[in-house]
Amino acid sequence: MSSNIDTLQQELADLRLQHHENLSGEISALLQRSTQPDLESLEQSLLTQLRDTAHRLAGSALTFVYEQTGLALRAFEATLDNALAGQMRSAERIRKALKQVQNAATMAGDVPAAPGQEKGVETVTGDDGAARRPEDLHLYVLEDDPSTSDLLKLGLASFGYRVTTFVDVKLLTVAALTDHPDGLIIDTEYSSFSDPNLAAAANAMQETGMDAIPILVVSDNSGFVEKLHAARHGVVAFLNKPIRIPALESSLEGVMRHQTRSPYRVLLIDDDVFSMEHHRIMLESWGIAAKCVTNPVDVLTGIDEFKPDLLVIDLNMPQCSGIELAKVIRFHKQWIHIPIIFLSGELDASRQMIALKTGGDEFITKPVVERPFVSLILMRAKRARQLAELMIRDSLTGLLKHTEIKDRLSHELARARRNKNTVSVAMLDIDKFKRINDTYGHPVGDTVITTLAHLLRRALRTTDIVGRYGGEEYLVVMPDSDEANAVRKLDQLRREFEAICFNHKDLEFHCSFSGGVSDSDSTGNIDLLIEKADMALYRAKAQGRNQILGAFSE
Ligand code: GH3
Ligand code: MG
Ligand code: MG
Repeated sequence: MSSNIDTLQQELADLRLQHHENLSGEISALLQRSTQPDLESLEQSLLTQLRDTAHRLAGSALTFVYEQTGLALRAFEATLDNALAGQMRSAERIRKALKQVQNAATMAGDVPAAPGQEKGVETVTGDDGAARRPEDLHLYVLEDDPSTSDLLKLGLASFGYRVTTFVDVKLLTVAALTDHPDGLIIDTEYSSFSDPNLAAAANAMQETGMDAIPILVVSDNSGFVEKLHAARHGVVAFLNKPIRIPALESSLEGVMRHQTRSPYRVLLIDDDVFSMEHHRIMLESWGIAAKCVTNPVDVLTGIDEFKPDLLVIDLNMPQCSGIELAKVIRFHKQWIHIPIIFLSGELDASRQMIALKTGGDEFITKPVVERPFVSLILMRAKRARQLAELMIRDSLTGLLKHTEIKDRLSHELARARRNKNTVSVAMLDIDKFKRINDTYGHPVGDTVITTLAHLLRRALRTTDIVGRYGGEEYLVVMPDSDEANAVRKLDQLRREFEAICFNHKDLEFHCSFSGGVSDSDSTGNIDLLIEKADMALYRAKAQGRNQILGAFSE
């Protein structure tokens, strides 16, 4: 069997070389073709021909991990699809999209990964999951009212987002299709989804590349019909006016977290290596990280190490059946949210039913058809990740919950021990918080809690991990940081928080927090480490609050 795998690897490597030569040739031919005068006629047969070529090249470019080129080809394909559907027909737009393909193909970074190191397979980072920070994220806003426009622009900029505002939906669409913003905010008071221009724009966004551009709505109208329109056009969040920037930012954060996280991960279990490899390549060509396991005995370690979002299990295997394997997996409660999809040539409906009863979620018959197969996997994986997020994140702040942050801390402690690094732990607590609740009410207290959560998440490095440890207590884990370092950084945040002006009705007020820090140089024991941070916090409170103390500092 292993020599078969070697052969396949060799075949893939050879194929990769051939593909590389072929791709550049085909892109040159497309460029050549697009300079011909007959492109202006936008003839259906010519557009179809270009679209089909783009589709084929995109598939293979992504299969061979020319990611940027592949995505640019997908966008080019979407442009042609739109032109074929009679939307935004223009030779200029087609040339522009093709130009993007050429740019991507000549880009230095767009080289294939070495064989066996395909993208995404080793992406467990152990961090908070935020792969990109807000400052990397570009948002489009559709809004005609200048004051709302300014509010959005300034408010979101204060959270680090880059914002471009539009008043014309057509201009916005054209810009979005070449520029690929990370998100779109629409004020439906200005432009409702019953407007065909907006509907067409939203549909076009859904066609961009692999993952559609997420659309958020702010609206004056919270009726069912308005929401239904929005849902039909791929809107992912619906917020009622008046616009509250922290709430909007929190929605954005939730959406972006899903969007910018590492690729979905699928573990394939099949005794037929060739068919499994075929599925693996198919999934990876759509940006999904897939890993194969041939022997069911290796599945439990496979799940533990690879941390898949979803399992695809062959029903008929010689060592044990897929049904038996699903039963074994379902013994493990921590994996209960991971969907199991059975894949088999089994056509007997009653056998299929038995398979689903044992804890399977879906049944797909072989041979699989690429698009529906990949769509189903993406849909299931996305849902599973959302559920997993709900399990581990606090609903008010979006921060990790108590048990999860402790898990991450113990993971970081083990890592620090291995790499001979130092990890710091900070315990933070808002000062005199009871008084804030008593004076301004519980909802205002909640705003203070979320604001500090956002500040921490935004200001700390992506490797730092923030959790809500209790009501108004936060636990921060800072890898590669010693106590003095952590104290310095948190003290900076303490000053920023103190400067924030909160308001309730006509009243303005400020809040502060205190913190205690300890690091793993003093102890590797997780409970002791937290206790030391807690004791330092206690001292900070006793010494007058609004200060950060280290366990060692006196
Ligand atoms: P200290 O400076 O000593 O920390 O004083 P404090 O008033 O903050 O004291 P303490 O930490 O004991 O008070 C915590 C208060 O936080 C008690 C509880 O009513 C409130 N609280 C806990 N969770 C929430 C929440 O989710 N929302 C709101 N609004 N209040 C909460
Ligand atoms: Mg407190
Ligand atoms: Mg407290």
